[in-house]
Amino acid sequence: MHHRGSRSRVAPWTLVLAVLALAASACSRTSQPPGPSSASGSERVWHLGQPVIDSHVHLSPNMQALAVALEIFDRVGIGRFVVKSAGPVGSPRYQASLAMQRVLGDRMRAFANIEWQGIDDPRFGERQAALLERAKADGIVGIKVFKALGLGVRTADGALLSVEDARLDPIFEACGRLGLIFAWHIADPVAFFQPPTPDNERYDELKIAESWSFHGKDYPSFETLMAQQERRIRKHPNTTFLLIHLGNNAEDLGYVDRLLDTYPNVFVDVSARVPEFGRHPADAVRAFFIKHQDRILFGSDLIVDFDGRLQLGSVWHVPDQQPGIDEAVEFFVRHWRYFETDEAQIEHPTPIQGRWKVDAIGLPPAVLHKLYVANAERLIFSPPSADTNRNNP
Ligand SMILES: [Zn+2]
Repeated sequence: MHHRGSRSRVAPWTLVLAVLALAASACSRTSQPPGPSSASGSERVWHLGQPVIDSHVHLSPNMQALAVALEIFDRVGIGRFVVKSAGPVGSPRYQASLAMQRVLGDRMRAFANIEWQGIDDPRFGERQAALLERAKADGIVGIKVFKALGLGVRTADGALLSVEDARLDPIFEACGRLGLIFAWHIADPVAFFQPPTPDNERYDELKIAESWSFHGKDYPSFETLMAQQERRIRKHPNTTFLLIHLGNNAEDLGYVDRLLDTYPNVFVDVSARVPEFGRHPADAVRAFFIKHQDRILFGSDLIVDFDGRLQLGSVWHVPDQQPGIDEAVEFFVRHWRYFETDEAQIEHPTPIQGRWKVDAIGLPPAVLHKLYVANAERLIFSPPSADTNRNNP
């Protein structure tokens, strides 16, 4: 792949054709090694001869964002990817995301989101369930629910909508019935629930993204949200839960270990949490990944917005600067290094998430293959595509 830098020299329509050709060619070479653009090929040694699936990205459904994303994916060896923010069913973003998926075919899958505005309508849950049926028919693989549920969405009386509110039951049940995955971001790092003062270990982030602080006010505690998450999982055994950010509790491997042991309907991804779980002793993390090797998915939480601007796991650590494609490549390479080598005290992928280093966990190749490819393939890519689904309702 030698398309680096070509964006500045070609007419926009040429770019469109190039992107389509690139996307199509990537689909047809899924069994071949990825082709890093660097001549040295030094990134190649960390791969298994098969493109990685990134199960957690946020990609604006427009050509500019797609061009940037595909350039990054190509340089770091990512083939297929899963968009977690296709928008509420029927919205313009949703329609555009479906269009992008049609163009990319088997290379992309998408999760829709929920529009909370009608929450005070007594038929809210029922209406959402109907929308989920439509999403299923459209080839959507699940819904992704953001931390706003529990920390942001309010009912007419001004109270925060509880994760356990009975109005939400039809949504969880419809997901189970329809075979839609319930991908869930609940709570946030524990430190975001502590005072956002200079001695907070995540102060570098909190001072930039002030709205990420959930300290005080009427917010539920982190512990409350973790208990609510578990009660929801227990209540809906037929629903598959994909708990992002390592079960939303990378601080407590014991909690995540217990959830995975207790509930066969739970999967987790690693997105935006290498810095956090990387603080546990490497032996403990390695043992966790080996024990739960069939239930953990690789995901980065890469965001590419409408203008092609990037967010790499969090806000950028250099004031007044935006990360570019080279920084995105470095972001992924640091993940590969963490999972694939035994190096001690390496830089983690997201500098602003903590001024510490991590010890890599050097997973065995068979476990890596599940983390990078097989688990996402089975959970997200194997269910029939929209077209197949329409032919065989
Ligand atoms: Zn995300």
